[in-house]
Amino acid sequence: MAKRRINDQQQRRIKNIQQKRREKASINQQKKSDSLSQQGLGTEQSGTIITNYGQTLLVEGEDKKLHRCVARQNLGALVCGDQIIWQAALADNNQGVIVALKERQSLLQKPGFGGKLKPMAANIDQIVIVSAIQPEPKPYLIDRYLIAAENLPATPIILINKIDLLEDKDKQKINDLKASYEKIGYKVINASSVIDHGFDELLNSLKNHTSIFVGLSGVGKSSLINHLMPELNIRVGELSEASGEGTHTTTSSTLYSLPGGGVLIDSPGVRDFGLWNTSAEEILNGFIELHEYIGHCKFSNCSHIHEPDCAIQQALKDGKISQLRFNNYQKIIREYAG
Ligand code: GDP
Ligand code: ZN
Repeated sequence: MAKRRINDQQQRRIKNIQQKRREKASINQQKKSDSLSQQGLGTEQSGTIITNYGQTLLVEGEDKKLHRCVARQNLGALVCGDQIIWQAALADNNQGVIVALKERQSLLQKPGFGGKLKPMAANIDQIVIVSAIQPEPKPYLIDRYLIAAENLPATPIILINKIDLLEDKDKQKINDLKASYEKIGYKVINASSVIDHGFDELLNSLKNHTSIFVGLSGVGKSSLINHLMPELNIRVGELSEASGEGTHTTTSSTLYSLPGGGVLIDSPGVRDFGLWNTSAEEILNGFIELHEYIGHCKFSNCSHIHEPDCAIQQALKDGKISQLRFNNYQKIIREYAG
């Protein structure tokens, strides 16, 4: 059955409803913030947004505890990972008011309703691209995630999961795949939650970073996260309690501290980050091994696909860049650049 199109009138109606909801939420937040301010606020301190429930935001304060906060007006949308300034309510230290947003190092945004970008998480500096022995790794998908990471910008790590399923006949293929990405400068980790393989290397790479795991459903992301944080369920329970929002739903992005240092941001909404539109410039930016040839083509607006005297085509002929990566570059350009 054909998907029914939303007509203009319906779109306007939905927009109006959403606008009214936003206004109401904003008024409610302002009322709450005013009432807390009247009761008196403590000194300004730094904090991190752990998750955003809409009107209530969970903030980890300098005391490492969770506090339910409302935001002053005009701070814009605050998201998980944001560094902020807040003040605790004198009457109840568990509550507070967010008064300022610190500068963001990066902002992960996703197209929402009507293609408008919706902020999902802030200050991510590392993206773990998860593929697996089963379902088989797809270099084309890895390359798409690499583009997203390079443009955020964040450092990508490629993780080949379920290595316990690797059969002798496929060993060479997987080794070649690993080597091809290592050759252009990426870290590649083999891992398995089932045989507890690769976790020292993974934990070490996650230290001192704010990371997300991306990849197709079924590659084992949840299993990896549960293995990294055996106490995850306890943490989720604490979040529900602190937020007073009942069961903590994992639909909103949430920041988790890793036992060995570093933090992880997770939500179903960020796991498919990277699988949407990008510009030709961003696509090229995502193929880091091509950068040294840019600016050496005959035509300054060379698309590196069919033009004569193209430096990238020449590098391909000379075997300096991988044919597979170049094919993916062409394919992604054709599909996405607009
Ligand atoms: P997600 O959709 O990426 O979060 O994937 P899940 O963590 O839900 O895992 C998908 C399936 O793969 C489940 O049936 C897991 O039991 C299985 N799985 C996860 N990790 C491994 C692993 O290291 N080895 C094997 N053999 N299976 C795994
Ligand atoms: Zn060219």
